[in-house]
Amino acid sequence: KGVGPKIAQKLEKLGAETVYDLLYLFPRRYDDYTLMKPINRLNYGEQVTVIGTIWQTRAKRLKGNKTLIQAVINDGTGSIQATWFNQPWLTKQLPAGMQIVLSGKVDQFLGRPVFNSPEWEPLELEPLRTRRIVPVYPLTEGLGSGRLREIMGTTASYWSLRVPDALPEPMRRRLKLYPLSQALKQIHFPDNQQTLHEARKRLSFDELFLLQLGMQSQRRQWQSRSAAPIVAERDQLNQFYDLLPYTLTGAQDRVIQEILNDMSADVPLNRLLQGDVGAGKTVVAAVAMFAAARSGAQAALMAPTEILAEQHYRGLSALLAPTGLELALLTGSTPAAEKSAIYERLAAGTIQIIIGTHALIQESVEYSNLALAVIDEQHRFGVEQRGALRDKGNRDGDQTNPHLLVMSATPIPRTLALSLYGDLDLSILDEMPPGRQEIKTRWLRASERERAYNFIRRQVEEGRQAYLIFPLVEESDKIDAKAAVAEYDILKNEVFPDLKMGLVHGRLKSEQKEAVMRGFYAGELDILVATSVIEVGVDVPNSTVMIIEGANRFGLAQLHQFRGRVGRGEHQSYCVLIADDSTGDAEKRLTALEETNDGFLLAEKDLELRGPGEFFGRRQSGLPELRMASLLDLPLLKLSQKEATNLFAKDPALSLPEHELLREQLSLFW
Ligand code: ADP
Ligand code: MG
Repeated sequence: KGVGPKIAQKLEKLGAETVYDLLYLFPRRYDDYTLMKPINRLNYGEQVTVIGTIWQTRAKRLKGNKTLIQAVINDGTGSIQATWFNQPWLTKQLPAGMQIVLSGKVDQFLGRPVFNSPEWEPLELEPLRTRRIVPVYPLTEGLGSGRLREIMGTTASYWSLRVPDALPEPMRRRLKLYPLSQALKQIHFPDNQQTLHEARKRLSFDELFLLQLGMQSQRRQWQSRSAAPIVAERDQLNQFYDLLPYTLTGAQDRVIQEILNDMSADVPLNRLLQGDVGAGKTVVAAVAMFAAARSGAQAALMAPTEILAEQHYRGLSALLAPTGLELALLTGSTPAAEKSAIYERLAAGTIQIIIGTHALIQESVEYSNLALAVIDEQHRFGVEQRGALRDKGNRDGDQTNPHLLVMSATPIPRTLALSLYGDLDLSILDEMPPGRQEIKTRWLRASERERAYNFIRRQVEEGRQAYLIFPLVEESDKIDAKAAVAEYDILKNEVFPDLKMGLVHGRLKSEQKEAVMRGFYAGELDILVATSVIEVGVDVPNSTVMIIEGANRFGLAQLHQFRGRVGRGEHQSYCVLIADDSTGDAEKRLTALEETNDGFLLAEKDLELRGPGEFFGRRQSGLPELRMASLLDLPLLKLSQKEATNLFAKDPALSLPEHELLREQLSLFW
């Protein structure tokens, strides 16, 4: 009610197209007038809200066309100065005499309390008169906070009573959670902090519960049919180990045991193998594939790109060829004649180990006896592709599900593993092979770039290769691609005219990209310039320098992944981070990278700095968006996991009438 086409448009910008969306458009924060403090009682460092009158607002010009807005606010007990950068329009929006609400952290400047870039809004007397805790919604151009709050008021009071609650009533009561209507009402217009807390808890539970239900149902699907048990003979394994050029680390031994144990059952293995870059995941996969092949079945390894598939093919061939097993490589660019030969040999069972890209799960590909599927870099594979892979499983013509081993090179803090991989068992390679050299990492300012270039030059003179990364994060953006090309031209023509260089960026066709990558692999290029599209698993042991421009703009995990491209061979390797700015958390991130090479430590640090939402932002694209819950809320996570397990035990298909709504919500959520 009260929302015409114009306002509807504005609401759409906030992501709300339906009444349901609007109910779930949660306040960004709350101004709790019961927590408000008079200015003369503020303490440094505390997060507060104050109300006062603006005495004066000035704009100051700073160097480099920047402006600083300073406002003095007084509440009768004292004054505080608030400042904002580069928002010149604020002089108009914050006239002297206006009553204002400010929220933020109290800093000190020259011994006096100040607010730096506090949140603010004009004081409205209405909510103050009627309630103590006032919701503050995200704003959009042309829709004032007062108006939006009115709309929310109408929506929440009318519709929250009419939303069906998908959570089964007995369960809700047992867990002492608010009914949905009450939670929605209180999340928008809380009576007090306690009811707000309860509302948050109920809405967070909903999300985590749906998350767990979704993941557990994936696991159930994978394990819905039995698998062909694979029993590894001790002798055979020892023969294989004897052929290895090194002894396995303790961690490798342990995870191999975990994997082989699971594979010996007729319930399909369903396991994630996590390990930092260079931890030695390939040989672990090789042992599992070897065991499958020796037992008379087939194993497949699927990688996200052709380059990675080829690399795995080379690596696994080196490990497995001495055993006499038949390996083959199948990708999109395998020539047609060869392809059909491979299809035939796969169907006949003469190929025992196949490595490839999505080409492995095309409909036309038939396996005679696929019992183990290994997926590298799992976050790029969606549910459908997993399904296609699962359907390839068979044993002597009978449909079985293959054992599934997923490998991920992105270390995930243990605290998050439960929420993110509820569908997979976890094996962690937490020990590096011996003798691994530290990649020396230095952080330089943009003005010191010349030093980095000289360094590249010296390394190239010694026969090494180098990567140069540009922070053009939006791979699809035309402008960024152009900028990359322009930067590249300058480097090529002016900085390194005598060296051989190649460029890859997100706008290139994949064949073009792969052609350049191959040149770098073959040592035909000295320097590879790349945007962030550079493949995570790329392995060129001769490359020893990684230079990352605009390093401050990348997250820790990504920087660590980039760095992992060097230090893969016998030569001492280096990573140079060039920062054009070091404000905010950038300094902490760059320093952390200088200090450690340990991916798990860095992941913990990253999580601490950015929080779980950002941590997974782009990376964990397979997960639904959470609006309320924190992936770090361990007690609530454990609860939702337990409840999901119990529910599936009772009603595996969620087909009981009392679970109908839940089933509907589950598919909406995912
Ligand atoms: P990742 O886990 O990043 O896939 P790889 O499997 O590519 O790591 O292994 C990285 C390097 O370490 C390879 O060159 C491999 O031969 C070597 N490696 C693996 N395991 C061991 C080991 N136990 N001892 C010595 N070197 C090993
Ligand atoms: Mg690898």
